Amino acid sequence: MVFVLAALPVQAAPSRSAPPDELIAVEPAIPDAVFDIRYATTNNFMGEVMYPSATCLLRRAVVERLSRAADLLRAQGRRLLIWDCYRPLSIQKKLWEKVKDPKYVANPKTGSRHNRGAAIDLAVVDKDGQPVTLPTEFDDFSKRAHRKRALKGEQGVEAKRLETAMKEAGFVPMATEWWHFDAPEAHDYKISDQPLQDAPQ
Ligand SMILES: [Zn+2]
Repeated sequence: MVFVLAALPVQAAPSRSAPPDELIAVEPAIPDAVFDIRYATTNNFMGEVMYPSATCLLRRAVVERLSRAADLLRAQGRRLLIWDCYRPLSIQKKLWEKVKDPKYVANPKTGSRHNRGAAIDLAVVDKDGQPVTLPTEFDDFSKRAHRKRALKGEQGVEAKRLETAMKEAGFVPMATEWWHFDAPEAHDYKISDQPLQDAPQ
């Protein structure tokens, strides 16, 4: 009788793949992006510094999507201009305490997709990092910032370019803010209060 030893299945190396819901820094993934994190400055609608550091974090899977949008835009001579990313819930509460108007700030009871690390506020600059024509300033809460209006005509060309790339990468545009995009799986991620300054870089 001949015994044939069945070949043992090759042991797969232990998976080192990082969890898709980890909050990671965007900068190393998209090194040519321009970061102007407005809530870390006084140049925001409140005129107050709200973030302890100018840090842009998003869930790993969201960063991967954003990287794809950046590639599409780079091929058109554009770079990302990033205004806001993940926002800790405790800062959302501070914003809410000061403003208490859902037109401007999401109520921390329900939270914002920014608190889930799955929303981003952004525009584009040219390949040299110089400004291009945008429909409005960041956090212009007027109807001029509504997507239908903002993307029209000559002043809407760059915002339209951004929207096309972001949609191609799978993001969902917000109707009332031309600069805001959500990851489609945003609600799979928990609302977080991981501090910005302690985040992995
Ligand atoms: Zn936003």
